[in-house]
Amino acid sequence: MPNFNTIRNDFPLLAREIHGKPLVYLDSGATTQKPQAVIDKINYFYTQINSNIHRAVHHLSSLSTEEYEASRQTVANFINAKSTAEIIFTKGTTDAINLVAFSFGEKFINEGDEILISEIEHHSNIVPWQLLCERKKAILKVIPVDDNADIIMEEFVKRLSAKTKLVAIAQVSNAFGTIHPIKEIIKKAHKIGAKVLIDGAQGIQHLKTDVQELDCDFYAFSGHKIYAENGIGVLYGKEELLAQMPPYQGGGDMIAQVTFTGTTYAELPLKFEAGTSNYVGAASIAESIRYISEIGLENIEKYENELLAYAEEKLLKIEGLKIYGTAQQKSSAISFMIKDIHPMDAGMILDKLGIAVRTGSHCVQPGMLRFGLTGTIRASLAFYNNKADIDALYNGLLKVKMMLS
Ligand code: PLP
Repeated sequence: MPNFNTIRNDFPLLAREIHGKPLVYLDSGATTQKPQAVIDKINYFYTQINSNIHRAVHHLSSLSTEEYEASRQTVANFINAKSTAEIIFTKGTTDAINLVAFSFGEKFINEGDEILISEIEHHSNIVPWQLLCERKKAILKVIPVDDNADIIMEEFVKRLSAKTKLVAIAQVSNAFGTIHPIKEIIKKAHKIGAKVLIDGAQGIQHLKTDVQELDCDFYAFSGHKIYAENGIGVLYGKEELLAQMPPYQGGGDMIAQVTFTGTTYAELPLKFEAGTSNYVGAASIAESIRYISEIGLENIEKYENELLAYAEEKLLKIEGLKIYGTAQQKSSAISFMIKDIHPMDAGMILDKLGIAVRTGSHCVQPGMLRFGLTGTIRASLAFYNNKADIDALYNGLLKVKMMLS
């Protein structure tokens, strides 16, 4: 078992102070801090090998291209994709979902078809489907959750029909921490011929993920949530599906040949990578994968689960505090309210104490509404957090209560 007490020393930013207080960073669901290894990799790229990829015959270009394609292989291995043809670099999860909504939508969605999402999806896994439904006169259906923020499986099954073409659901809810039973969902959806997209933005960094074992058709995640750079993400798609889908955007790199009478497209995965990709970002993902693989995702999961249990137990000792999201299986995020205290006020006082939490709707407005809320306070954990961070949050919240009650 790695020493999780010293691991935070790998993350330089965590050593800084905020308003003269040691930083307690509990907003990793929004974005993660970066380990020195990733920062060094980005530095190495720009000081040693930077050049545009797939373009030139000169030495730097081939070094950059080699790194980029090796990064693709690292990602493929990490999620156990069959081949690198199935790994498309995007700008992030949002970009990956929009790619599928546009391209899969163009090819496979017709008037009257149905797309299913859960009631607690991130806006990134709602709005692209709404836009697609508008374009194609298709129907977006919502699977309700119960009072714990667990998906109601019978309601899901009720909504499945021959019209269902796609189910799009998060692996882990960013607002409530629910780990959705995606394997079961995928199995049930496949039985009636529907495809499944998993929004892995909050899953990939916490849970060991094997796309072949899950048998999902698409899987999306963001670099910045897995200790790598922003502006880079991944879309995994089954090759036989991606091969049938039209390009999402046109431009350089995604073509085989261009003439004024017509254009042919590059093979997968480049068909979906128009323009200069964020190749440095891709290398940063590969480095972060190497870094967390050394720690071991099983170890990370175990440690984070223990910390989550400690945090929930501790926070519930505060009178008037209610946790929203008490699913059977949870990861990382604790959403809560304190009686008669506005989340924003709490967030501002915590900030003055050096404690960073997220307040607001967490880009999950419909999910908040389900619980009669417009927002919550959210503490989201990473493996660089420890019990002292939770204790600081607890003490900070007592101060918030004292000041605002
Ligand atoms: N899906 C979920 C569950 C998220 O938590 C987020 C970001 O918080 C996204 C999608 C969007 O990710 P990005 O902004 O990196 O595209």
